This record gives sequence, structure tokens and C-alpha cells, in this order.
Amino acid sequence: MMSYSPLKPNFKERSAIEASTHAGFYKCWTCGTCDGGCPVNIVAGTLRPQKIVRLAYIGMLDELLHLPEIWYCMTCRRCGLICPNLVKPFDIIAYVRHEMIHRDIVTMDAVHRYQTLFAKFQRVRWHAVDCCMKGDLTTLSDAQWYEWLNTPVRVASKVIKNNGIAIPRPLREAAGKLNPSACFTCNECSSACPVFCERDLFDPQAIIRMVNLGLVEELLLSPSIWLCLGCERCTNTCSQLVRGHQVIKSLQNLAISEGAVDTFFVSRLEKAEKVIFPRFFAEIDAIFHLGGQGGATRH
Ligand code: SF4
Ligand code: SF4
Ligand code: SF4
Repeated sequence: MMSYSPLKPNFKERSAIEASTHAGFYKCWTCGTCDGGCPVNIVAGTLRPQKIVRLAYIGMLDELLHLPEIWYCMTCRRCGLICPNLVKPFDIIAYVRHEMIHRDIVTMDAVHRYQTLFAKFQRVRWHAVDCCMKGDLTTLSDAQWYEWLNTPVRVASKVIKNNGIAIPRPLREAAGKLNPSACFTCNECSSACPVFCERDLFDPQAIIRMVNLGLVEELLLSPSIWLCLGCERCTNTCSQLVRGHQVIKSLQNLAISEGAVDTFFVSRLEKAEKVIFPRFFAEIDAIFHLGGQGGATRH
């Protein structure tokens, strides 16, 4: 018969984590709201911010330092935004990442490879959306994965003419509240956006600029608008009170209602994300060797 040893809280580690993070994990009542709103948990079920908060609460620092999903996080901070008790799970993740580096559990070389992979993975997400606009993406071969990962997306350049009067009415009406015309292109939104890595792939400031220029048709037909995680960081950082995340959400709604994507597109995309995200996590596991899903074959 297996012996069972209950976890013992480590109060010293717990105090040390809270002193370094001010994440407020004492206030967590384990409601699971953060789990339900985490974009990574939604698509792949592999990252539970509540679990990380709980481990911090009982001072299990050693477990946190060897948790593979610490690197699955997309750094969007949505978990903290939606927590009813103002707990900040991401601050614990950021602290654990820092400690892993500081204690030589992961090397800086591995972290740099991870950062490159993270940026290139946004290309894979873009291509997955593009595929779903035309049909299904149910499997992904090695060859396809590496081709998408290693080939930058290039949007055809053309001279842009101000076409303001062509903004469709629903967006024009919504735009009144979302304030895109107040944008003075300071780029704060893009700097805050966790998935802004390459401008041709996804750039909230460029999207808002295109809305202001009336280039809505180009946006509705572009895979880019579907890369947004809905985390609201762009909105919360904007000094001009432009509601970037809602502008992009309005564009997604308009793409559906105007027929730029068909009615089954969203469910196809959800299935496609269940194909590409596990592959992404397997690559992360291969970089850090912390266990996890495993399965990545080469870099
Ligand atoms: S949303 Fe907040 S209170 Fe609820 S489980 Fe997550 S951290 Fe705890
Ligand atoms: S920062 Fe974003 S991706 Fe990371 S745990 Fe929180 S909600 Fe999930
Ligand atoms: S555009 Fe805004 S809401 Fe979307 S992922 Fe970037 S920061 Fe988050």
C-alpha cells in the first residue's frame, strides 16, 4: 500500500514569496476565475494560475521552481485583471522565472532560445488562423511546424489611401465609445501587448491606425485580428483612453457578421489551437528540461 504524506506548508518560503511579489495570495479564495480566464488554460488546459497561487500560499517554492508550465504562460496578466480579490498570479510566475534563472535551474541560453521560440510561435498562430479561414487544421506535421515557425509573414505593401468614409456602420457606431480616433500613435499599446513580436503579424497600434484610415476590409480579411488574447493591457496602458482590446473584438465580430469568415471559423480555430499549443509546450519542455509534456523532436 502506498504511503501518503500530506503537504506541509512552508511558512518561511511563503513569507519570502509574498515579500518579493506582493501578489496578495493570502486573499485567494480558490474561486477558479483566473483558471477560467487564462487564454492558455482555455485553449490547452495546461496552465492553471490558481494552482500557482495555491503553491505559493503553502510555500512550495521548490515545486514552483520545477513547474514546466511556468514557461507556458503568455505573460498577458489577464489572471490578475479578472481576480475578484485582486490577487496577481502572474507576479508569482514572473518571480519564479527570475528565481529559476538566479538559481541556475535554467540557463540564460535556454531563456534566449525560449524568447525566440515565443516570438516565432506567433507566426504559427497566424498561419493556423489563415488555415482555419479556408478549412480545418486537425494535424500539424514536423515539416509544416518548422516552415511556419521559421518563415516570417510578409504582408504585401501598398500605398495606403485614407478611405475613412468606408468604415462600416456597426464599427463606426462602436468606435464612438472605443475612441480609436484619439490615438496619436505613441505605440504604448504595442509595447504592452504580450503577443506583439513582428509588425506584419500583429500590432495593436497598426490595427487602430488602419481603423482610423478606414482600412477595415483589409483588417477583416487578415488573420492578424485573431491573434489578440483579449487581455486588455493595450487599453489599460493607453493615455488617450483608446479601448484597443474592444476595437479588435469589434473587428472580430464584424468579420463574422460581414462574412469575412464563416460561422464555423471560430470553432475550427479553437480546434486548431489544441493542435498548435501542445506542440509549442513540447518545444518549451525540450528547451528547459523541466518535465512537462515532452515530445519535441528537434529545435
Ligand atoms: S481568481 Fe483570484 S481568488 Fe479566484 S482562484 Fe484565482 S487568484 Fe484565487
Ligand atoms: S499571465 Fe495570462 S497566460 Fe499567464 S497565467 Fe495569467 S492569464 Fe494565464
Ligand atoms: S491587442 Fe491588447 S488585448 Fe489584444 S493581446 Fe495585445 S494587449 Fe492584449
